[in-house]
Amino acid sequence: MIYFITGGSRGIGANLVAEAVKAGHDVAFTYNSNEAMAREVVDSSAALREGAIVRCYRLDVCDSAQVESVVDAVVEDFDTIDVVVNNAGITKDNVLVSMEDDEWADVIATNLTGPFYVCRQVLPIMLSARFGRIINISSLVASGGSGQANYAASKAGLHGLTRTISKEYGRRGITANVVCPGYFETDMTKDALPEPVRKFWNTYAKVPKGRTGKLEEIATVVNFLASEGASFVNGQVINVTAGLDWAP
Ligand code: NDP
Repeated sequence: MIYFITGGSRGIGANLVAEAVKAGHDVAFTYNSNEAMAREVVDSSAALREGAIVRCYRLDVCDSAQVESVVDAVVEDFDTIDVVVNNAGITKDNVLVSMEDDEWADVIATNLTGPFYVCRQVLPIMLSARFGRIINISSLVASGGSGQANYAASKAGLHGLTRTISKEYGRRGITANVVCPGYFETDMTKDALPEPVRKFWNTYAKVPKGRTGKLEEIATVVNFLASEGASFVNGQVINVTAGLDWAP
């Protein structure tokens, strides 16, 4: 299958690219500013399987014109898109009373409006093929997280967007699901978390596994949702949290 993954230059997205390639798929992925890292992901992922096609495209998901032209370019290069993973995301944390307009707007634009633009652009392709898989990467924080009103609202909104797509297009061979990761060490989290919060995520008393997640533990779930075999899984929110179902 042909995957289209946003934010594949680093962290969870880079691992999603690699694991999709290992599973036999070809991948188009995007980056926003880190072209050098994106090129490294292209080279390292393509080396994982002989004949694999992996390409990267620069895209700011907040810009609908860019979404349109990048999706067109991907279809030109790969002929179609079977699987979309809306993974690109940012945080701009602050307590609510101090949150600036741009901290709110930037996070909503990247984490919620961007996936809307991408879904709107790829759905006609999937409708023509009568097959499609949309997988939106949310967060445990969708249910609320201190200092993250913007992020929580963006991810909760993503659940509504996903469930709506699942209802509108389920009969046309398209599924839309949400994956909610717990804590995974990436650029997004590694410097942002105060030590007590980091400890929280590594404590058996709180997290039944007693550790943070391994990136491939997300990719396994994403690849399952992308598969033909997952055709009856639609409109679901799947936590990949080792059993911890609320954020501090
Ligand atoms: P990283 O910060 O490591 O990577 C973010 C990715 O998003 C990068 O590829 C970045 O591109 C891209 N990106 C950022 N802004 C834009 C934009 N405007 N347009 C297009 N791409 C953009 O994040 P993670 O890998 O940690 O997170 C990936 C997803 O998983 C996010 O949606 C996040 O909310 C979610 N998540 C992560 C958790 C964790 O523990 N890490 C927990 C729960 C959810 P570039 O490299 O070019 O800047």
